[in-house]
Amino acid sequence: MVVLDAARKQALRRELSALLGKGSVLSEPEELLVYESDGLVLFRALADFVVFPTSTEQVAAVVKLANRESLPFVARGAGTGLSGGCLPAEGGLVISLMRMNRVLEVDYDNQIAVVEPGLVNLHLSWAVGPKGFYFAPDPSSQQACTVGGNIANNSGGPHTLKYGVTVNHVLGLEVVLPDGEIMWLGGRTREAQGYDMAGLFVGSEGTFGIATKIVVRILKQPQAVKTVLAVFDSIEQASKAVSAVIARGLIPAAMEMIDQLTIGAVEDAFGCGYPRDAAAALLIELDGLREGMEAQAERVMAACRDCGARDVRAARDEAERQLLWKGRKSAFGAYGHISPAYMVMDGVIPRTRLPEVLRRVNEIVASYGLRVGNVFHAGDGNLHPNILYDPRVPGEEARVVAAGGEILKVCADVGGSISGEHGIGLEKVDYMSLIFSEADLDYMGRLRDAFNPRNLCNPGKIFPSRKACGESGPAYRPHPIEEKGLAQRF
Ligand SMILES: Cc1cc2nc3c(=O)[nH]c(=O)nc-3n(C[C@H](O)[C@H](O)[C@H](O)COP(=O)(O)OP(=O)(O)OC[C@H]3O[C@@H](n4cnc5c(N)ncnc54)[C@H](O)[C@@H]3O)c2cc1C
Repeated sequence: MVVLDAARKQALRRELSALLGKGSVLSEPEELLVYESDGLVLFRALADFVVFPTSTEQVAAVVKLANRESLPFVARGAGTGLSGGCLPAEGGLVISLMRMNRVLEVDYDNQIAVVEPGLVNLHLSWAVGPKGFYFAPDPSSQQACTVGGNIANNSGGPHTLKYGVTVNHVLGLEVVLPDGEIMWLGGRTREAQGYDMAGLFVGSEGTFGIATKIVVRILKQPQAVKTVLAVFDSIEQASKAVSAVIARGLIPAAMEMIDQLTIGAVEDAFGCGYPRDAAAALLIELDGLREGMEAQAERVMAACRDCGARDVRAARDEAERQLLWKGRKSAFGAYGHISPAYMVMDGVIPRTRLPEVLRRVNEIVASYGLRVGNVFHAGDGNLHPNILYDPRVPGEEARVVAAGGEILKVCADVGGSISGEHGIGLEKVDYMSLIFSEADLDYMGRLRDAFNPRNLCNPGKIFPSRKACGESGPAYRPHPIEEKGLAQRF
């Protein structure tokens, strides 16, 4: 952690302002507070500067200055991340990409768009929508999160089941490497020679450099869409229906599950028409050719009924469909109506293990005296237990962190993973060993070092800190669970 004295800080501020122009540098404590966390408010850290470049050249100039001064730096999109990924964990510079938010080019014939990283995800679909196209990756935060943040976290969303995650929609990237060099990875076509460098960059959580231009695929909007709501009296029935639909050879675009606590919160907040007394609801969306759509929807509804759904209905019109989706996509926000704070977990399990794992999740959280709401991408087996808590109650945050750790362990034990889409960030660095061996981590660390040898670019993320004497790598830093006396590392 570099500590800047007042004179050096002032000199750097002057230099940054000269590089970026007036109104592009923040350094007052109250201004920096806005950038002290992302969507995971359990972790906070203050930068020395937040800067707002407007071009690749400006990003490169800032990164070169950071290198000269040995200052850590981190890219930030909209700050909607849920793993502390854009936190300035070691101080230094936050490089906000929010002013680089243009759609630079759309080639409808080749179905590609070139965009700047600070473009809000949904704004891309709005830009190409009038010509019948859209951008498929659709995180539930799509009204706020940026394409740059999606790239870094390889984000998914409700429609991942059929359309894949962000990496499946990225062709090329212009990046500023951690030493300030500008480079293109990938290109404008799907087939590239040599290593898939753009694919490697996607999901690297801002540790391989900063994306400044992004070439993405845009898709033709489907001819027809059908959205079904299936209501169940038990989570087990709903979980079985997820596997039953897929077992019948149907690949819905989306299959989202919402549990009873979440239904209550959504209904309190938005009144979307979910039945409050249901134990779980499945929101299933089919899309594709008009021909055969009704028959597919009938088969989906039959599978749900066979698994015990007490009510199954298809949205009658676009307005009703939008309302059903509003409930799902606003669920995280709805928790704000029933709890002062919550932590979103992000684990993955084999779909067939949903009933038992959800039962374990509920037991674990209850054993810590807390409540949990589950709303998640059931078709992908991507869980989002949301642990509700009150940060003003002494000890409650520590219990949330400990319960979260136990949930991740269950996910790993059943053959799943510790993150489906939110990334490792700062939150999960010390859980990496649940799914990776020392050798795996060593190889990944070497890859990181090849891009980022000085580790100035988003330090402290993804990799566990090391404690043992003589080990190389980042300095040991206790995990919050250790600091709170709940766990010890041997
Ligand atoms: C209500 C809510 C719902 C969500 N739903 C989903 C969901 O369904 N699916 C999902 O995947 N995520 C979801 N998220 C998490 C989050 O929105 C995504 O991870 C999103 O992609 C982050 O984008 P951002 O612009 O906010 O990035 P930030 O939070 O600003 O940054 C995230 C990471 O990206 C890096 N980064 C940002 N820009 C760049 C760049 N140009 N170059 C290199 N690195 C960069 C940062 O350093 C950081 O490591 C949700 C979050 C919220 C709050």
